[in-house]
Amino acid sequence: MFDPRVHDSAGILRLAVGLLGVVLGAASLAAEQTPAATVTLRVYDSPHLSQPMSIALRAATEDALAPAGIAIRWLACVARASGLTGPCATTPGRHDVVVRVVASHDRRDPERCGFSLPLTGGPAFVSLARECAARVSRALESAQAGMPVMLGEARILGYTLAHELAHVLLPGRPHSRDGIFAARLDRRHWTGVLSGRLSFLEQDIEQLRTAAVTRQAAVASEARGRVAATDSRPRGILIR
Ligand SMILES: [Zn+2]
Repeated sequence: MFDPRVHDSAGILRLAVGLLGVVLGAASLAAEQTPAATVTLRVYDSPHLSQPMSIALRAATEDALAPAGIAIRWLACVARASGLTGPCATTPGRHDVVVRVVASHDRRDPERCGFSLPLTGGPAFVSLARECAARVSRALESAQAGMPVMLGEARILGYTLAHELAHVLLPGRPHSRDGIFAARLDRRHWTGVLSGRLSFLEQDIEQLRTAAVTRQAAVASEARGRVAATDSRPRGILIR
């Protein structure tokens, strides 16, 4: 475990884009290399994060996972009473990951900014709590070096998501002694998150890469199986 609404405006957007330069720069450098695997996330955003926050969250997650050669495909999902719509119209399969951004988790455990349920035989679920990330971000104000609390929040959520995705990709593996996959992130870790210096340990990076590649191969194999099953159906009308 470990531990975003402002109105969009051109000013906020310019500010955010400027401040995000370092983050996006790191992500785009990584993007120049072909990723070893891509993980698709179905994201349900209940608190309706602002666009700059969403961009910052995504960049932070991609930044954290890029050393492992993992790219993220983001699907923005909307829950409707009428059922599944848009890019998330299909029922999640066992290799899918559903991410829910919520206002808060259990108030008895305020330190828990994220948790995951890597279910076997079904989709994995990850939950991120905005209020928890905001609290951590405010507590680190002095370490933010002029970075708006909002962007600190987004980076904390993004790295929390990367941590939880490590649980999804490496089910049953215990936490690491340090780095993004440490059991508990203290002030030193979070300061590293804000400055972009916190990373997964080398052994975590290797295991994540292998797990993501294996998972992608399984997804591709299942997709081929579905196509083969469709192709084997008789076409047209049989006349005897
Ligand atoms: Zn954990």
